[in-house]
Amino acid sequence: MKRTNFDVIIIGGSYAGSAAALALGRAMRRVMVLDNNDPCNRNTPHSHNFLTHDGRAPSEITSAGLEDILKYPTIQLNKQQVVNVTKNKMGFEVITEDGTSYSCKKLLLASGIRDIHPSIEGFSDCWGISVIHCPYCHGYEVRGEKTAILANSVAAVHMASLIAHWTSELIILTNGKPEFDISDISNENNAAISIIEKRVVKIEHTNGYLNKVFFEDSSHLGISTMYAKLSFEQKTPFAALLGCTINEMGYVEVDDFKRTSVKDLYAAGDNSNMARSVAAAVAAGTM
Ligand SMILES: Cc1cc2nc3c(=O)[nH]c(=O)nc-3n(C[C@H](O)[C@H](O)[C@H](O)COP(=O)(O)OP(=O)(O)OC[C@H]3O[C@@H](n4cnc5c(N)ncnc54)[C@H](O)[C@@H]3O)c2cc1C
Repeated sequence: MKRTNFDVIIIGGSYAGSAAALALGRAMRRVMVLDNNDPCNRNTPHSHNFLTHDGRAPSEITSAGLEDILKYPTIQLNKQQVVNVTKNKMGFEVITEDGTSYSCKKLLLASGIRDIHPSIEGFSDCWGISVIHCPYCHGYEVRGEKTAILANSVAAVHMASLIAHWTSELIILTNGKPEFDISDISNENNAAISIIEKRVVKIEHTNGYLNKVFFEDSSHLGISTMYAKLSFEQKTPFAALLGCTINEMGYVEVDDFKRTSVKDLYAAGDNSNMARSVAAAVAAGTM
């Protein structure tokens, strides 16, 4: 009969979840990883800044991770979506979409976050390809290019200050009235920085590679690289449903050992860490 009770169940088998499974499985814990193969970086052709895997496709890195963990008889993987979690006296009951009920003493949420895309035609097609979220992940590849930032307020100042030295021409698309002062941007290399406040309505692209950004008055900006600062939500509702403290930014609150405010419930990776990267997720899972 298939085992359904485990020491630890991990919801999410991407970077944080697989790293946690490796550490726990090697520690002789019986681990079940439940994952529905929907990591946040799935659109990105190349992932950068993770030592020994720089420039590889995200799916190659996760596949290598799964290969590592599935060598251990203590670790099992089921490619199922988790649809419900409840806490009981023994630990947790976890239900997957096929109706299987699993039980565990401890539960790790490594289910990531969901970026909330603006309703701009073409945006989602370009996300992770030519519309990027992080200079440390993808900035080097687009260095020197005329670059747009889709952001306003402190987010625009923060992103512009981070990337001003990567380019000589930076255009901030505030998508409405600017809510910051251009002089607040740290611009040590004197890049030409301008602001366009017209509403962005459409992105024209070829297979995710940006060509033009169109504005409400039908004018356009020819551009091949754009950073965007998006809001996010937790990918699963389980942390909130189980009573975890969620901080004011929307992350699950954890201590240095990734314990949440609920006994025996842990969280690791993007869901509980604003320093978003593969390396940080792996480090968090390993804790
Ligand atoms: C577009 C983009 C590009 C990026 N590029 C880079 C880069 O180049 N370098 C870098 O270091 N970082 C990059 N990042 C950041 C990096 O991808 C994340 O920090 C990392 O993926 C976080 O890992 P995680 O395991 O916490 O979450 P994720 O990788 O998002 O994985 C969460 C996992 O949980 C699973 N899951 C969620 N809900 C359920 C459920 N109900 N049931 C079962 N499974 C579930 C999902 O299927 C998924 O596999 C990028 C991010 C984005 C959005």
